[in-house]
Amino acid sequence: RAKGKCRGSLQFFAEHMNQQLLIRKQLEGDLRRAIPEGQLELEFQPQVNLTSGKMVGVEALLRWNHPTKGRVPPDQFVHLAEETGLIIPIGDWVIRQACAQASDWPELKFAVNVSPIQFRQGNIIETVRSALDTEGIDPNRLEIEITEGILLQNTEETIAILSELKAMGVRIAMDDFGTGYSSLNYLRRIEFDKIKIDQSFIAGLGRSTEADCIIQAVIDLGASLGMTSNAEGVETLAQARKLKQQGCKEVQGYFFGRPMPSTSIQELLVDHDWMMLAADDTHSRST
Ligand code: C2E
Ligand code: MG
Ligand code: MG
Ligand code: MG
Repeated sequence: RAKGKCRGSLQFFAEHMNQQLLIRKQLEGDLRRAIPEGQLELEFQPQVNLTSGKMVGVEALLRWNHPTKGRVPPDQFVHLAEETGLIIPIGDWVIRQACAQASDWPELKFAVNVSPIQFRQGNIIETVRSALDTEGIDPNRLEIEITEGILLQNTEETIAILSELKAMGVRIAMDDFGTGYSSLNYLRRIEFDKIKIDQSFIAGLGRSTEADCIIQAVIDLGASLGMTSNAEGVETLAQARKLKQQGCKEVQGYFFGRPMPSTSIQELLVDHDWMMLAADDTHSRST
């Protein structure tokens, strides 16, 4: 009896699954064509040094211009790319493209997000080496951003690859610090050059003592380990000033600039800085 009663819902469920699978297959097919058809693009977001008030680097962020859906944000396709292995050719493209663009901006460092899958299945060292060589770029200018997902599998192998990249002179940044479940363990295993405080913490800055104290603790922890700090998601001048007082070195966020096409970065390079930050030392930390 129960069977009869539930048949309708099972059928509904099966159809729903089927439909989801179809949508996924379709998107996967579309993504497979994205590189050959030139639908991928990089945008760049300024990274600003809080002492000088100047743009010192950019983070490359991947964009997919889908022929019918329009611009699909990375949160909606990077996961699929990882599951299907497409992240390998896509990730290679990102590294090459970022290096090609960075060759126009010798005064800037540039950061690239790299998926854990590229470390497990790809040939990240060769890709990075050849992209830097081709464009004649100093490895010190490249920063690879990784998240703690990188330590979930093949830990020893991953750490060996990171050491080799570091030996080449490439920098390593820990992205989204504080959002995972083992951030501290991850700090202990890998020698990062930079720690990027997740934007969820910055959103609480100045709103609660707890948020302020956590950010302060992360900045201090990073400094004591010889790492630079970057605060992500800075949307107001007040947040930037507070972070400066707290000893944070670098900021990124909509206040300074949204991710933008390379031509707009070029314009910022010509005649822009955020001197209101450099001038503002009246509230310097006095400890
Ligand atoms: P992420 O690396 O942590 O990048 C920061 C994200 O925060 C970007 O979203 C950026 O547009 C956004 N953001 C920057 N400033 C602000 C702000 O002031 N307020 C708010 N609300 N958001 C801000 P986006 O570009 O959508 O990228 C999302 C994520 O997708 C990235 O997070 C990164 O994990 C991943 N991703 C992006 N490009 C690549 C790539 O080339 N390869 C891989 N594997 N992942 C990528
Ligand atoms: Mg990032
Ligand atoms: Mg981040
Ligand atoms: Mg993120």
